[in-house]
Amino acid sequence: MTNTQNGAPPMLGLMQEWPLTLDKFIEHAKRWHGKREIISRRADGRIERRNYMQVYDDAMHISGALLAAGIGTGDRVATLAMNSVEHLAAWYGISGIGAVYHTLNPRLFLDQLVYIVNHADDRLIFADGMFAPILAGLLPRCPGVRRIVYLTPPAEPVILPVPSGSLEDFVAGHDGTYAWGMFDEHSAAGLCYTSGTTGLPKGVLYSHRSNFLHALISISPDVLNLSSADTILAIVPMFHANAWGLAYATPGIGANLVLPGPRLDGASVHELIIKEKVTFAAGVPTVWLALLDYLDAQGLDLGTLKRVIIGGSAMPETMLHRFRDRGVEVTHAWGMTEMSPMGTVCALTPPVTDMPFEEQIPYRMKQGRPPFTIDMRLVDEDGKVLPHDGQTVGHLQVRGPGVTKAYLGEADHALDAEGWFDTGDIATICPYGYMQITDRAKDVIKSGGEWISSLEIESAVSMHPKVALAAAIGVPHPKWAERPVLFLTLRPGHEAEPEEFIEFLTTRIAKWWLPDAVYFLDEIPVGATGKVDKKKLRVICGEMAGVA
Ligand code: ADP
Repeated sequence: MTNTQNGAPPMLGLMQEWPLTLDKFIEHAKRWHGKREIISRRADGRIERRNYMQVYDDAMHISGALLAAGIGTGDRVATLAMNSVEHLAAWYGISGIGAVYHTLNPRLFLDQLVYIVNHADDRLIFADGMFAPILAGLLPRCPGVRRIVYLTPPAEPVILPVPSGSLEDFVAGHDGTYAWGMFDEHSAAGLCYTSGTTGLPKGVLYSHRSNFLHALISISPDVLNLSSADTILAIVPMFHANAWGLAYATPGIGANLVLPGPRLDGASVHELIIKEKVTFAAGVPTVWLALLDYLDAQGLDLGTLKRVIIGGSAMPETMLHRFRDRGVEVTHAWGMTEMSPMGTVCALTPPVTDMPFEEQIPYRMKQGRPPFTIDMRLVDEDGKVLPHDGQTVGHLQVRGPGVTKAYLGEADHALDAEGWFDTGDIATICPYGYMQITDRAKDVIKSGGEWISSLEIESAVSMHPKVALAAAIGVPHPKWAERPVLFLTLRPGHEAEPEEFIEFLTTRIAKWWLPDAVYFLDEIPVGATGKVDKKKLRVICGEMAGVA
């Protein structure tokens, strides 16, 4: 920065140059927490253990092999893989040489993956063998990809149009002593596309600095409150918005890291928590629901688990109580791919900490407060700034060093004239600074010129003891423009009539918010990141109305 007040050059501090690049995390873990473990569970249930010294070494070899394969600064290298120690080593190996890791979500439709791989211009893909059939469909349509490296072997050989082989073969004979980093901390490190629920997927390009700062902030007591004594279970996939930063935060403090692979059912997650003595775990509500139902059915507890962080979609209140009944503290969080991804965390602050638990509940159910480095505000349709009174609903805007300013390959900035990014979410902020999402702008139910919050209907009905998962959507209505209808899945072993839920809601939400219909589904459709797919629900709703 050169523009000082009196025009003179700024006086620079005399501290060391130490660019905030991501290799520093794994290097620190290797040097100071070398024996702490990264535990991977394989698709067949086997557990494999590596320590930070070994992962550092693995990542170094990957860097050497990538350089030999012609990958250089700024090249995009994709990963199509579940959470595993090899996936972690690949991230560090790729970004250590200034290339860019690009996480692909294997749950996306093939057409979306083809678009994303071509748009990112991925050169090489590190993939789990279980996704070889996806590669077979993808590669003929993605000519830029020159090579596949399997992080875990495919069950049976699959013929691909480019060379493929194991990670072991890829790194064999390559040097493990590369000098990582040595580039500007603003260099690109990682790439993740939004799921494209509205239009084409968009690439969010993280820098070393943005991931670095995000991880540092996330460790602190009023955010995720992580320490070296923790054993951290990252259920949130590495392809879902950076695994919420845990791949950096965990080596940064030398905690043990448990990576669960593809098996995320209740029994498998429970087994990992107990066997590995997990103290902290992160995941989306649908995963926790499966776990809690399994615990109920089997009469099990959660061992050493002390804290869970729940985000990605709104947490139902029953989840808070079901975890607390088992001695586990729940923290609700909100974020998005464009925010690295953490936006708010509901770690309680005074005066809410001083309230009795019952009075804290409405605050605990909100999405939380912005950690340092994130700022947020509410605006109306015309951009007028709205008050933080807990009542006024507005468009949520954010800014900070972990917030995207432009999507990859798009000329226009994604920001307004004052540098704010519009999240696409609708929210309130209360006088104590707790933000609550009331809807995604595209999911708001517009009835008679007023807005109905689908999340509030879902949250209220979720307190009904028979409800497993709830989703409200707006359907077209000749008089009111839209009216709410409610979809429910019931907890195992329960039956119910729609009227029970309307009656239950009568005392909990405004009368004109009551759903016009309640439908039961065996399963509510969820999208590629485990969130309710309201687009699909609208189609199902149309079909049901047609039948009725
Ligand atoms: P997408 O699902 O669009 O790929 P993200 O995974 O980045 O992208 O999702 C971000 C969106 O998820 C947010 O804008 C918000 O609508 C929703 N979301 C995330 N966390 C929560 C939460 N705790 N409560 C409600 N909505 C949430």
